[in-house]
Amino acid sequence: MDLSYSSEQQAFRAEAREWLEAHVPKQPLPSLDTAAGFRAHREWELELNAGGWAMVPWPVEYGGRGANLLEWLIFEEEYYRAGAPGRVNQNGIFLLGPTIMEYGTPEQKARYLPKMASSEEVWAQGWSEPNAGSDMAAIQATAAIDGDHYVINGQKTWASRGAYADWLFGMFRTDPDSERHKGLTFILVPLDAEGVTVRPIEQLDGEAGFAEVFFDDVRVPLENRLGESEQGWSVAMATAGFERGLMLRSPARFQNTAHKLVELYREVEANGDEIDPCLRDSVARCWMDAEAYTLNTYQTVSRLLAGGKIGAEASLNKIFWSELDVTMHETALGLLGARAELLPGASAAEGVGDWLDGFLFALSGPIYAGTNEVQRNIIAERILGLPRK
Ligand SMILES: Cc1cc2nc3c(=O)[nH]c(=O)nc-3n(C[C@H](O)[C@H](O)[C@H](O)COP(=O)(O)OP(=O)(O)OC[C@H]3O[C@@H](n4cnc5c(N)ncnc54)[C@H](O)[C@@H]3O)c2cc1C
Repeated sequence: MDLSYSSEQQAFRAEAREWLEAHVPKQPLPSLDTAAGFRAHREWELELNAGGWAMVPWPVEYGGRGANLLEWLIFEEEYYRAGAPGRVNQNGIFLLGPTIMEYGTPEQKARYLPKMASSEEVWAQGWSEPNAGSDMAAIQATAAIDGDHYVINGQKTWASRGAYADWLFGMFRTDPDSERHKGLTFILVPLDAEGVTVRPIEQLDGEAGFAEVFFDDVRVPLENRLGESEQGWSVAMATAGFERGLMLRSPARFQNTAHKLVELYREVEANGDEIDPCLRDSVARCWMDAEAYTLNTYQTVSRLLAGGKIGAEASLNKIFWSELDVTMHETALGLLGARAELLPGASAAEGVGDWLDGFLFALSGPIYAGTNEVQRNIIAERILGLPRK
């Protein structure tokens, strides 16, 4: 095993660092879950794209930089190091993009990927329905074929960024007599199509981070189908693999938080405040776990570069990063003590940072991308081979 970087990789890192240092906004952008913040984040994405850094591992003809996944990991490290804005089109670039790369026709790749890389088209993910969350095979929204169109009816919910996105990808029941995961088709739907109603949902912080999406006789061309008809489940499982197993949460995100946690510990210590030894242990553990996650991801990427695929082990990954994120934020709140509960505008909140906000979001990690209970079921059945009942 060789854990050192080649001279090409070091040059790539230096180039990324230089560009990011010159371009990353000096002030944080407003939240991407507000209309103004969404616009500002899209503008940032356009700039990133103009510099050739929007989606480094994609082929150049699809808006990428033609780099490989190892270089993408390096870019992510530099991206977080530079404190660059969150990726407003993460559902597109990290989830749908790789899925189109695997299942899309040449026409679909040319049509969707470049505008996805640039974020001229921002995507929402439409899996969940009011009666289909963990039990995704219970999807009821339908798409009936009428000539050369699908006619879509039904409802999706919890679509992140759905309030402002341009497109939605989702699964719809195309065989009305089918049950469970059979008879579902993966379809790409423009959110400005006639018959689509997007109703924003306010989150805990009052921002419209989600949306419900209603479909009333929405006509979508058959060519918007991704993969084979009624094979949507397999296509969606590939999307979920990318989401849980690699792209949604790159290790740099957690290394960055671990680094800030160590800094916070040092500040509290320098203030002469007494620190519970359990918190000190937790800081060290979080740092080690972030490093372990990084090494594990490098191993995954090496496997993929050697022709491997992401399998059920993506569920182990998802549990690990989501639980680590909660622990890191809980540890930070413990170090800050009662001050942790202050909102950023409060007079005594200096130095508190955005740990509270991060904590609230971290709490959703064990829920989104498939709950951790469901991931444990997958591990039990598919990795450990335990009986279903
Ligand atoms: C921040 C965030 C972003 C999201 N973004 C999107 C998005 O963009 N698009 C989208 O489609 N959805 C999105 N979701 C929705 C998410 O996918 C669902 O919340 C999740 O799949 C759980 O479904 P549910 O909320 O209906 O809960 P339920 O399925 O009703 O589950 C309730 C509880 O029961 C447990 N449970 C259910 N079944 C089992 C089982 N078989 N074994 C053990 N325990 C079980 C669950 O683990 C959970 O604790 C998002 C959610 C969050 C929190």
